[in-house]
Amino acid sequence: MWGAGQTHLAFLVQSTFTTASPTHEFLPELMALLPFAIIALVLILARAIGESWLSRLNQRYVQAHADEVPSAFREMVDQPTYRRSVNYTLAKSRFGEVVTLFDAVLLIGLLFSGVLPWAFGKFMAAFGTSVLPMAGFLFATGVASSIVGLPFAWYAQFKLEDRFGFNTTTVKTWVLDRLKGFLLAVLLGFPLLALVLKLIEWTGPNWWIWAAAVVIAFQLLLLLIAPAVIMPLFNKFTPLPEGSLRERLFALAQRTEFPTRSIEVMDGSKRSGHSNAFFTGFGRFRKIVLFDTLVAQLAESELESVLAHEIGHCKKRHVVKLLGVSIAGVLTGFAAVAWLARQQWFYCTFGFEYHAGFAAANVVPAMLLFALLAGTIGFWFSPLVHIWSRRFEYEADAFARATMGDAQPLVQALRKLTVRNLSNLTPHPLYSGFYYSHPTLLERERALEE
Ligand SMILES: [Zn+2]
Repeated sequence: MWGAGQTHLAFLVQSTFTTASPTHEFLPELMALLPFAIIALVLILARAIGESWLSRLNQRYVQAHADEVPSAFREMVDQPTYRRSVNYTLAKSRFGEVVTLFDAVLLIGLLFSGVLPWAFGKFMAAFGTSVLPMAGFLFATGVASSIVGLPFAWYAQFKLEDRFGFNTTTVKTWVLDRLKGFLLAVLLGFPLLALVLKLIEWTGPNWWIWAAAVVIAFQLLLLLIAPAVIMPLFNKFTPLPEGSLRERLFALAQRTEFPTRSIEVMDGSKRSGHSNAFFTGFGRFRKIVLFDTLVAQLAESELESVLAHEIGHCKKRHVVKLLGVSIAGVLTGFAAVAWLARQQWFYCTFGFEYHAGFAAANVVPAMLLFALLAGTIGFWFSPLVHIWSRRFEYEADAFARATMGDAQPLVQALRKLTVRNLSNLTPHPLYSGFYYSHPTLLERERALEE
């Protein structure tokens, strides 16, 4: 009775509250599924415990250096600012621990309470099993999970960031951002989801290759149109005004043969005191964007070095390489879902009925479970990804140094930004290994001054 609706672990949990069904008949099947449930549970707990442990390790490390500015930073940061960076780091870590714990409890609850198969069953009974309602189910679970996250996002912005003077977001902007995000999901995400599900029915066993191709094409299109269509929905972009800075940056673009039509300033200060710079789009659509906060904080030579670093990412083909990895990631993800969608044990472990065949309704549970569980495994690979991304940062720094003929402007820029952003100056190496996509300030300075 593998395919029967109630031969699953979630039923075991439910059955303790209801006496109507004879549990013992299903026990042998339940026992066979137990190892898979235990593996899933261990993976979820291992991640939560791993994250909490890393956080504590880092907090202790930061506190051990808290009383006195470490000698390497004495000329760039004063004692009160350093103290504030320590407090900011600790506050963020503690908040992060709460979120980690909440996420783990929620995930365990979702997976083992039987609520997902129950909701899926109700949804199918009410709306049917064709592509649109199935896309609707996945979309609704996505919306529900982002609603659950709203109080945390609110707290992070209006309490935590606010306490350290970074929050400049108004409640109106915050609410509008969420609404715009939701609208974009409805207009772009939902049709994509429906198309992917339709491909299962159209293309059969190889659906995942088609689905991956469609998602990758969609991502490329998004990269292309985002600067012109999506980003202006959230921020105002104005061309960098005429003057010495503009001349200097365009001269740099020309010197490095980096064709760009415009250098624009984004009103990042609308949301936060943090600062950044980036470029978006391809080829002739490309534009360089500087946060207004960055322009306000850095001297001209420092801004030039930051831009040189960004150009370095492009010249060293990091963008193309990252795109390649993201394509590989999408393909792997869909291959995994397609494989899981053929595993009866996977469905039964989490209480879903298993049906073979290439229909949207047969694959949707695998997609949902994969989306919920992928992070528990992916987390352990983050140090590997970061080793790679940090190598890119070193290469971009070296490019900036070579272009500027001097490491000092970039060193000064990095120091200023680190202090302004109250970045943790003394992260534990293991912690930074898991969470930092960029090398620490000290590591970058050392590499630049070699
Ligand atoms: Zn970079």
